[in-house]
Amino acid sequence: MKNVTVLAGGVGGARFTRGLLGHLAGVAPEAAVTVVVNTGDDMWLDGLRICPDLDTVMYTLGGGINEEQGWGRPAETRRAAAEIAAYGRGWSWFTLGDLDLATHIVRTDLLRSGSTLSEATDFLCRRWQPGARLLPMSDQPVETHVRLAADIDEHRAGELMHFEEWWVRYRAGIAVTEFVQVGLADAVAAPGVLEAIENADLIILPPSNPVVSVGTITAVPGIRSALRSTPAQVVGVSPIIGGAAVRGMADACLHTIGVATSAEAVGLHYGARAAGGLLDAWLIDVTDAAALPVLAAAGIRSTAVPLWMTDLPTTTAIAAAALDLGA
Ligand code: GDP
Ligand code: CA
Repeated sequence: MKNVTVLAGGVGGARFTRGLLGHLAGVAPEAAVTVVVNTGDDMWLDGLRICPDLDTVMYTLGGGINEEQGWGRPAETRRAAAEIAAYGRGWSWFTLGDLDLATHIVRTDLLRSGSTLSEATDFLCRRWQPGARLLPMSDQPVETHVRLAADIDEHRAGELMHFEEWWVRYRAGIAVTEFVQVGLADAVAAPGVLEAIENADLIILPPSNPVVSVGTITAVPGIRSALRSTPAQVVGVSPIIGGAAVRGMADACLHTIGVATSAEAVGLHYGARAAGGLLDAWLIDVTDAAALPVLAAAGIRSTAVPLWMTDLPTTTAIAAAALDLGA
């Protein structure tokens, strides 16, 4: 096993990748891991470019994550945000901690001086040394929006709202009819992304949100076809356990696209590579083992193991199971 490529969102992708690196350090220290990270959640706030998933992956792998929250920095303060609010500016629903702000300032400065997002990410990672190569899915802005149903205000039905506002401010609690990736048509995969898929020995779809994390990455022109044609095995790890999104509100995303919140339905939604889908294999939790025959019948090789990423040893074991399944 030399090259492993992971297509990740934020918390689920980051935690899984930490377990993967822990496992590989023991069994294949020469292995190189590339993480292609969703940038569909990126946005401008207070003049700064925020990349929530890139930062979550970078902080988690670099030892700078707030473990309880799963995002942001530990021992964070919000003095700058309070000052911004005193000017009547800022976003009350999105936390920008003081330590985290430093990352956004450095990134924005680099972008404004002409660096690409890939170059800025590389620069930030020189400090954090995440132990894996982090690639944004695209250097062009692709921002996920939701299209509002009539729920919130009938006059706003049909309007677009940034995904992060729907997710963080409204806790995904208002009805939406679809996800729209603004900028997708003009986007291409970032440098190295297609190569990382084509030249991998194994591709992993970690337990990330299937709709707005993995789904957004695979919507970038070229990525889905690279996944379809790579000689590497593609192994997915279910983010759904026992009919529930383990953390967060992924069920609201699945509901919007008409997919049931179950390990079986998400596996079938990704689909078997042999039948035009993305997966060779699918790792599900032991509580969902009843789905194994259906998945097998659909051409998806599946195994059931405990999938709760409670701590590093349990997460390392999940990564080991994913590698086994892909072997
Ligand atoms: P986000 O961008 O921060 O929302 O993170 P991701 O897209 O990477 O992953 C979010 C998903 O991870 C959630 O919707 C959960 O379904 C999944 N998840 C979180 N914790 C666990 C866990 O311990 N085990 C499994 N199997 N999935 C998890
Ligand atoms: Ca995210």
